[in-house]
Amino acid sequence: MSVPDVARSVEALPPTWELVRSLAAFRSSGGCAISLFLDLDPAVTPRRSDLETRLHSLRDQLRKELDESTLGHAQKVAVRADLVRIDEWWQAGVSRDNALGMALFLSSLDGLSQALPLVDVVADAAGYGPRLRIGPLVEPTANDPEGALIVVVTSRRGEIYRIEAGKLERVVDRHDQIPFGRGSRSRAEYQDHLEMLVHRHLKGVEAEVDGTVRAAQRRSGAELELVVIIRDELRGEFEAAASDEVLKAIVGWAHAEEHATPAELLQVARPVLDGARTRRRQSRLERWRAARARDVLATVGWEETLEASADGRVELLLLGRGLSRSAFRCVKCGRPALAAGTCPFDGEQLVRDDGVELAVHETVEHGGTADVVDGEELADAEGIGALLRF
Ligand SMILES: [Zn+2]
Repeated sequence: MSVPDVARSVEALPPTWELVRSLAAFRSSGGCAISLFLDLDPAVTPRRSDLETRLHSLRDQLRKELDESTLGHAQKVAVRADLVRIDEWWQAGVSRDNALGMALFLSSLDGLSQALPLVDVVADAAGYGPRLRIGPLVEPTANDPEGALIVVVTSRRGEIYRIEAGKLERVVDRHDQIPFGRGSRSRAEYQDHLEMLVHRHLKGVEAEVDGTVRAAQRRSGAELELVVIIRDELRGEFEAAASDEVLKAIVGWAHAEEHATPAELLQVARPVLDGARTRRRQSRLERWRAARARDVLATVGWEETLEASADGRVELLLLGRGLSRSAFRCVKCGRPALAAGTCPFDGEQLVRDDGVELAVHETVEHGGTADVVDGEELADAEGIGALLRF
């Protein structure tokens, strides 16, 4: 895991499943790593001073827990130093640009300091322990458009942007010269000539898009999302020239003004990407319902789902929004259990833990992903279910 100095780091990392997986696998040697989540939504807290007040109350809550805890002296000293680093991080100037939430993970004993800006709001929360809290990251990670491509096509220009940490980075900028004035050509000849040039230009842009899509898919290994911003009269020809890979990646089309800034382009693309995410979530739920109906490769409810997650069988964990339940974890092997008692594998003691955290940890650490859906979608499944790999 990369370990930037939180107080000085300017660019924080966007949440990807790869990153969440590395956070899930983390174990604090001293058992005292801090996880802190802060709701940055300006609609809720427009003033920075009020945000600071909320951050301080989280910090004070941690300090109080620490004072009352049974941690050893060295660990207490380390957590106190980390509480000071939270203040330093804030004083260094936390950017609220493009982020509605922030996650912060700190453990000076383990050399960990990671800040994650989130595209979604998170509820304020803080705690410390041997593992990092990753449950609140599920929805922001599932919603983050990180890596999505936005293609802007006009009759002379083709630009490709990639969404990186909430901003648009331009990766291709292609201009094709199309001369003005018909010279000695007849009007009809000139018209044909223009159409040929635009056609050639669109084919050229399409080849660039195809190359970028293939390279991005090779790199991430995941489905790629592509939004095309184009005038209606050019769309048919662009579609006709597009490869199967590009057509498969396109999640929607949009319009923008001629000289739109990257921020404006992102603004018109965002609803298209959000719509794609809603459709994907719906189709996942349908897959789960179909698998559940056939009783093949699906779990329903806490007992089955927690067990499948611990076995590494979960491909996709589905959680109802707002779900919470306490469960247990073996102090030795970490295996989760729903009921108190002893571990069936090693006979060790089980300690109380957060059920959602346990299910998410086990799923993500074993290579699965998770998503949050409206609670009523899972109302007859205790709010939890999963699609299984095997
Ligand atoms: Zn055990």
